Amino acid sequence: MDISARARNLAVSATLEVTNKAAELRRAGIDVIGFGAGEPDFPTPDHVKAAGIKAIQAGHTGYAKPSSGIPEARAAVCEKFRRDNGLTYKPEQVIVTVGGKEALFLACAALLNPGDEALLPVPYWVSFPEQIKMCDGKVVELRPSNPDDLRLRPEQIAAAVTPKTKVLIFNSPSNPGGFAYRPDEVRAIARALSGRDIVVFSDEMYDQLRFGDRREHLSFAAAGDEWYEKTITFNAASKTHAMTGWRVGYAAGPVNIIKAMAKIQSHTTSGTATFVQHALVEALTGDQSHVEARRKEFERRGNHMHARLNALVGVTCVKPTGAFYCFPNVTGTYPRLGVRGSTEFCSCVLERAHVALVPGAAFGSDDHVRLSFANSLEQIDRGLDRLETLLGRAG
Ligand code: PMP
Repeated sequence: MDISARARNLAVSATLEVTNKAAELRRAGIDVIGFGAGEPDFPTPDHVKAAGIKAIQAGHTGYAKPSSGIPEARAAVCEKFRRDNGLTYKPEQVIVTVGGKEALFLACAALLNPGDEALLPVPYWVSFPEQIKMCDGKVVELRPSNPDDLRLRPEQIAAAVTPKTKVLIFNSPSNPGGFAYRPDEVRAIARALSGRDIVVFSDEMYDQLRFGDRREHLSFAAAGDEWYEKTITFNAASKTHAMTGWRVGYAAGPVNIIKAMAKIQSHTTSGTATFVQHALVEALTGDQSHVEARRKEFERRGNHMHARLNALVGVTCVKPTGAFYCFPNVTGTYPRLGVRGSTEFCSCVLERAHVALVPGAAFGSDDHVRLSFANSLEQIDRGLDRLETLLGRAG
């Protein structure tokens, strides 16, 4: 039986090779230190777990009605956006989804026609190009000109817009980049794009994880009335509330787009489990003290990992200002290690130092590797000790 072109054209994850090799080494009894995690190492807060359990016991186990989000969950999403992002949305502008991932996919499916261009800044979250392709869109990569500062300049984004451009993907704080745009930088991009007939997908999964002098988050939709009308804001409970396995995300934007997304959702997943939506209400509107406590801990770990990475020969790393990733440039090590790119680099590091990293090739950037600091300081030090033995200490 022939597999569809749609499925055949999807990239097999560039991380697979390293993941498989790490599993093989572990099976052989080798202690591999993993920096691959794309999820918090903290548990879901107790009060949120309790809300989910209570909802099951109270019988909230039928189909979500409507499938695009029960009224309590949509109201909670509206409250979150108002409180944290200064954005006023009505419940009909909100959809609750199966993780942030479903929301992004539904938006692609709701907006892209064959050949429509989606501008995608590099490095990108792995699923973006594949979701765009699955919806027959054309990926237009925007590559940063400075390998040590991956933020795009407003002029560069504006210059890439063509009559075929339908969508700009904007992800700040960035996975995998670990950087965040400042409010004035978001406004400058919004200004540069003014008048363009495009929709911005603003992926704000990590809006509560910002560090140093980039603590302040500006949602793209808050960059002016024009962009409120043309932006879909995406978020999820996954990272902020350590709920990756609950599969609950949400998006808000223009009513006609949200309605189209809801229509597709009603024929595909029928939405997020009802009791999970009750847990979402608690996560978004209950006690928030865990958010700041965890943010501080991530910042401490990120700063530590950053300092240790920069002390390695041939490695340069920008200080992380958001999410929980360091994304160092490792090209300075390639000649010495005899490797030709990030995938070979990661295989080499795995074999020789027993440390698992994610190759930047998975994110469109073969000069870099991604290290997650959703890991204890002790594990971070153990892993970095090994990298130091392999690569040497600078200065
Ligand atoms: N966007 C980005 C930038 C992400 O890092 C992730 C999760 N890795 C997602 C979207 C998807 O989130 P979820 O797990 O809620 O589907």
